[in-house]
Amino acid sequence: MDDLTKLKIAMGLIITGLYEKEGQKIEGEYFYSKRLIHGINIFQSLNYKYNPKGFDFNKMHEQSFITKYAMHPVSEWFEGWEKAEKLELEKQVFYCMDALVGDSGFNTFHVNDNCEDYIEYIEKDIIAGIEQKAVYDCLKSLNQSEYVHLRKYLIEHPIIKFSDLRMLKLMYSQNSIALQAIENAYEEIRDNCYICPKCGWTLQKEKIGMRCQSRSCSETKYIERELEKILGDSGMFRLKRGVMKYIAVPGKLELEIHNYCDKHKVKNVLWPDMDKYDIEITFPNGDVMAIDAKAIKEPYFLREKVEKDGGFPDGNYKKGLYVIPDEFANERTDYLEIINRKLEEIGKKNIYCIRLYDLKKEIRERGERK
Ligand SMILES: [Zn+2]
Repeated sequence: MDDLTKLKIAMGLIITGLYEKEGQKIEGEYFYSKRLIHGINIFQSLNYKYNPKGFDFNKMHEQSFITKYAMHPVSEWFEGWEKAEKLELEKQVFYCMDALVGDSGFNTFHVNDNCEDYIEYIEKDIIAGIEQKAVYDCLKSLNQSEYVHLRKYLIEHPIIKFSDLRMLKLMYSQNSIALQAIENAYEEIRDNCYICPKCGWTLQKEKIGMRCQSRSCSETKYIERELEKILGDSGMFRLKRGVMKYIAVPGKLELEIHNYCDKHKVKNVLWPDMDKYDIEITFPNGDVMAIDAKAIKEPYFLREKVEKDGGFPDGNYKKGLYVIPDEFANERTDYLEIINRKLEEIGKKNIYCIRLYDLKKEIRERGERK
């Protein structure tokens, strides 16, 4: 195996290991992630090979690896590496990542959003058993209309009452796969919490601040008395965190496009052919457009995904569009260019990356509602 492949495996193991470790955190106990340790070992063997002078055996332990490496931008991990040109480090998707974890004090850490995004978009296949996969695998075994109905339901109902959950299960009482999907999607709310005004999931009060499914929700300042409270063990259910983060949150963008099409009388199908892409739009003149809504904040992650997938799946469309939220394009003004350059490079002439704003404009102008 070549060193670059080894390094990629190490990064995947380290990132998923950190994530796994945080998920298993129990007060007073120390959880060893075999993945993380395996990843550290591979990384350190390469570190020793490329940077024998700067190699420090004391940084081998899990805890010191976390403070000496994981808490620093990934590009800094390679300081002092020599003769590593052929690895083309600067071109690797992990190289541009900021610190993987943040310091929560008292020898604890929290995984940053970029870690989770990396797992979702780059390492998806090796993460078995994370919550969204358990749901997604069930959904994929349903027929098209059940698939659309249930996926839409999850996106629109991040928090539900027990009675609503029972109604939903009754509706699918003859369908064991759908029941399994529902079972895998929701969990009972055990502790007091608040409804997150940003994403609709739950805000849990912590020693400092609140915690939601993504760090961007958690970092917002809230006024407690203005938040809607949910009492623990009061028969309320919520989506499991992974389901919220990777099915419901991106789903909002998909539904927004779907609803906008409906409003402007543009024919559209959600998740055609069991999620071949997110939405297929047919304009009144017959032009078909395939849409993939991408709520990926980091353009290099989307670029990597585009390259891996070879652009869009084939289909009978005139244009294929990756649509990103306007704020991502505002935050990174080179976002669209990064993706469109890659699409051009791999010869995808009818595929583009655009902002939601531009897609809406086209729908509005070409729709039937004037
Ligand atoms: Zn939230």
